Amino acid sequence: MRPEILFPLFAEIDSLPGIGPRLKPLLARLISGEHVVDLLWHLPSGLIDRRFSPPLTETIDGSIVTLDVWIERHDASPNRRRPYRVVCKTQSGPLILAFFNARAKYLNEVLPVGEKRIVSGKIDHYRGEYQITHPDRIGTEAEREEIQTVEPVYPMSAGVTGKTLTKSTRAALSMMPELPEWHDPALQARHKWPDLKSALHQVHNPENEGDLSPDHPARKRLAYDELLANQLALALIRAKMRKLGGIETKGDGRLRKALEAELPFAMTGAQQRALKDIYEDMGSNGRMLRLLQGDVGSGKTVVALMAMLNAIETGRQAALMAPTEILARQHFETIYPLLEKIGVSCAILTGRDKGKSRKTALEGFANGTFQVAVGTHALFQEDVLFQDLAFAVVDEQHRFGVHQRLMLAGKGQAVDVLVMTATPIPRTLTLTAFGDMEVSRLDEKPPGRKPVDTRVLPADKVDDVISGIGRAIRTGTKIYWVCPLVEDSEVLDLQAAEERYRILVDLFGESRVGLVHGKMKAKDKDAVMERFAHGDLSILVATTVIEVGVNVPDATIMVIEHAERFGLAQLHQLRGRIGRGDAASTCLLLYGAPLGEISKARLKIMRETEDGFVIAEEDLRLRGAGEVLGTRQSGLQAYRLASLEMHSDLLAIARDDARLIVELDPDLQKPRGEALRLLLYLFERDEAVRYFRSG
Ligand code: ADP
Ligand code: MG
Repeated sequence: MRPEILFPLFAEIDSLPGIGPRLKPLLARLISGEHVVDLLWHLPSGLIDRRFSPPLTETIDGSIVTLDVWIERHDASPNRRRPYRVVCKTQSGPLILAFFNARAKYLNEVLPVGEKRIVSGKIDHYRGEYQITHPDRIGTEAEREEIQTVEPVYPMSAGVTGKTLTKSTRAALSMMPELPEWHDPALQARHKWPDLKSALHQVHNPENEGDLSPDHPARKRLAYDELLANQLALALIRAKMRKLGGIETKGDGRLRKALEAELPFAMTGAQQRALKDIYEDMGSNGRMLRLLQGDVGSGKTVVALMAMLNAIETGRQAALMAPTEILARQHFETIYPLLEKIGVSCAILTGRDKGKSRKTALEGFANGTFQVAVGTHALFQEDVLFQDLAFAVVDEQHRFGVHQRLMLAGKGQAVDVLVMTATPIPRTLTLTAFGDMEVSRLDEKPPGRKPVDTRVLPADKVDDVISGIGRAIRTGTKIYWVCPLVEDSEVLDLQAAEERYRILVDLFGESRVGLVHGKMKAKDKDAVMERFAHGDLSILVATTVIEVGVNVPDATIMVIEHAERFGLAQLHQLRGRIGRGDAASTCLLLYGAPLGEISKARLKIMRETEDGFVIAEEDLRLRGAGEVLGTRQSGLQAYRLASLEMHSDLLAIARDDARLIVELDPDLQKPRGEALRLLLYLFERDEAVRYFRSG
């Protein structure tokens, strides 16, 4: 339960004055939340300083000034295109206030002839006259103090005015309670961080540009609050899982030896190192949660398989969960024959399995007939019971959220979890997404891989590409043709892919060209993939569905249209689909001209390296964490107060801080612990609190 002291901050935003049912959804979208607290996290990006009243001759065009004016006369506009003019006198000369589409009655009320008023707005020159067009503020001498201020400027969106934001944020600030300090006093003193309430007041009332800097102590404090909340939540869940712990899994090695004898290759050094880590985790009496990071083709599957066999050797069960139907089937097809050879039983269960096959699988998992389960998230639905599940591999490729993953790990009996990801996340981002989850990296490719020859071409070379492809398919080459994302619209994606498909069919015939896209039924998709992998198709036109898809070793050419629209990680994963066999491979990146500097640099990286980790770091450098973490591509959550570029130093501190907190006060019972609970609730990381309360 959320502590009472925080209730006002978690009131709905429409409880604030001026926010009604019409404004609520617009504002909620802008501030990424529906609660008062979300207003507090929506920080100003600029300021308007109305404190200056320079003589007119010293003003700079376009700057904001606040002036005392004496109104001399009103000149109504002669036509719609000319403004209504209010001619004024100031201490340093004449000034025109200009209004388009003016309402004379109103203007006469607020700017009566013969009176003095205070006006504030952007000053400009027009035909030798000083002029303010549509002053932002007009008031009497008595209102001077309200006018001559510094105003924060918030990131805005359609339908929400700056005034509304400023007003509701003021209201939100007034609801901020006094909270006990949760930060380590020494750390706080060293960084000169204000307390939370003062920090919020400072960031929402910037006095100068320096106050807006991410380096400002108030901003840094808030960033650290957010980072610590996240790291602490992850650390708590992890510590809890370890403690839940339980079973030491140490197989006798008999099945693993049998498998190794079946494999046509020896493990790479990286695979051996990863397995050593994994066996150690499994063999301890804590609960395992490890991330196995490795490029496409780095050999994660075999590592997962060996680890599963370790569990099965002890008489228990193992499961392998994939994010999509296709991937689950592919895993099944890869491991089933291998397991069969060494006498291990295995069944698949996905959302598509209904009726008898579903029943057989469920029964087999429950009574232990099936030692290995492969499937999609269907595997972890409530009606799926295992006789004795010891080990789960989650091949996530970024499709599952952090918390989902952690909850999954908490499910069932003492299940050790290995998460596999093919997206090489930069180190800094690994930390934010996974906390200090242990990581094994497969940073060494299996031997014998041929480098992929990557070329970058403008889109108008597409006809040359097509004629090259015509020659290639006559020699039996298989080709992926990837069509781009069009403005986040699946419908348009599809149109682009269908158009390309028709062009290629006209040239090469229906029997040669296939099409797969995200809207197809899984069954139809699989059928096309199958024809490409083992049948007559030479060209597979696809939207990005092949990203996590098939393994077709004799596909050696990949064409990617509008490559500039893809994330580098995505391009890298796509390219990983080729270069898997013995023959040399080529990747053609077609771009739509003109290409910006950053896009150019990004495609250049693709040409220069195939190292996923290097690509990921460069992408981060070029585009920033917000982009790299963009949900569409990564599924990772972005921060609201912290910036991973600007506050990366704080991230490491937060990790160590969280680790120490959990070590000294694992149930957050001490005074600082009590305060830290508030922090977790404040940043809505209460899953973590509930998690350790429940057990
Ligand atoms: P990932 O899952 O990391 O994308 P896979 O596990 O699918 O990679 O492995 C890609 C290919 O490399 C598979 O055909 C696999 O059999 C092969 N492979 C894996 N490990 C090795 C190794 N040590 N030596 C040679 N080939 C390997
Ligand atoms: Mg794989």
